[in-house]
Amino acid sequence: MSQPEIPTEQWAQVVEKTGGPVTYKKIPVQKPGPDEVLVNVKYSGVCHTDLHAMQGDWPLATKLPLVGGHEGAGVVVARGELVKDVQIGDHVGIKWLNGSCLDCSFCLQSDEPLCPKALLSGYTVDGTFQQYAIAKAAHVARIPKSCDLEVIAPVLCAGITVYKGLKESGARPGQWVAIVGAGGGLGSMALQYAKAMGLRTIAIDGGEEKAKSTKALGAEAYVDFQSSKNIVQDVKTATPDGLGPQAVLLLAVSEKPFQQATEYVRSRGSVVCIGLPANAFLRAPVFDTVVRMINIKGSYVGNRQDTAEAIEFFARGLINVPSKTVGLSELQNVYQLMTEGKIVGRYVVDTSR
Ligand code: NAD
Ligand code: ZN
Repeated sequence: MSQPEIPTEQWAQVVEKTGGPVTYKKIPVQKPGPDEVLVNVKYSGVCHTDLHAMQGDWPLATKLPLVGGHEGAGVVVARGELVKDVQIGDHVGIKWLNGSCLDCSFCLQSDEPLCPKALLSGYTVDGTFQQYAIAKAAHVARIPKSCDLEVIAPVLCAGITVYKGLKESGARPGQWVAIVGAGGGLGSMALQYAKAMGLRTIAIDGGEEKAKSTKALGAEAYVDFQSSKNIVQDVKTATPDGLGPQAVLLLAVSEKPFQQATEYVRSRGSVVCIGLPANAFLRAPVFDTVVRMINIKGSYVGNRQDTAEAIEFFARGLINVPSKTVGLSELQNVYQLMTEGKIVGRYVVDTSR
């Protein structure tokens, strides 16, 4: 195959200072190191994490200036001399975990997200809100050529993360899972993965539009956190025996539901924390947690195997989450809508405009 032409400059959205906004400008195209690939990013999903990164919400500093983004789908255009198993022209995904040491006790046990030397796309290294991005070859997601890059982009963080979270919940086919923040990016994916895995879902979010979208994605019940007079009761009542769902996936960017979930989860059930609201704390009564044998845990993205499995569900046609595509130049507007909680599902940016 002939070598693709690689420009020396490209368009990118850059966070120059914590708090933002992003600046749409031209920056140099980097060269991949020996174990890296250069990916011509065609589309990138916009995750709420990208907004947290720009705002500096978390107790972990970002690089600056920063190119955010970690749901990038594109084509490999160059590779370092040590890279053998990824070819020029391959379709790949750049996900949150850009690279890890592959050698620590976590990497050895396929818990790469826990690697102390993990590189994070769009956070500690530049991400996918640019036309050409770099990733460690060992960690790029392999995307079959049959998959549409525009539609698969959100799978690369939202999809992998919720698929892993559902596995971590231990819920089995036929059981109930409450999805908190079900109308957002991760939530919409969670409803589809849960359905594909034979799980039954209760969607929790706010407003009529999200009621409609979550039902269309397979939720059997909807609880509106903005209008419900008793969320705990409403969630429990949504299960046929009134004892509540076997698992809860907490995806909302708000502290309140993190302090409420143990009240409606079924005894012996699991509360899986995934959303990362700024400065938030978990709270649960010790007595109930003990005598109802409740399991509270965190779940953080997924490993390479989870990635391959999440992509396979998509490739089989089981994950249909509508997304809206806008130009990369419009990223700041997407952040505005996200801040206002107005996004239903996921926005994707097209790096060519
Ligand atoms: P999003 O903005 O698309 O969706 C959040 C949804 O939560 C919105 O629909 C909003 O209406 C809803 N919501 C707000 N308050 C609520 C409440 N009290 N009850 C129910 N719903 C409520 O965000 P997203 O991109 O889906 O990301 C969600 C969170 O997950 C972010 O904090 C993000 O950083 C985090 N995240 C974590 C991981 C991980 O590995 N653990 C991976 C990706 C993203
Ligand atoms: Zn993400």
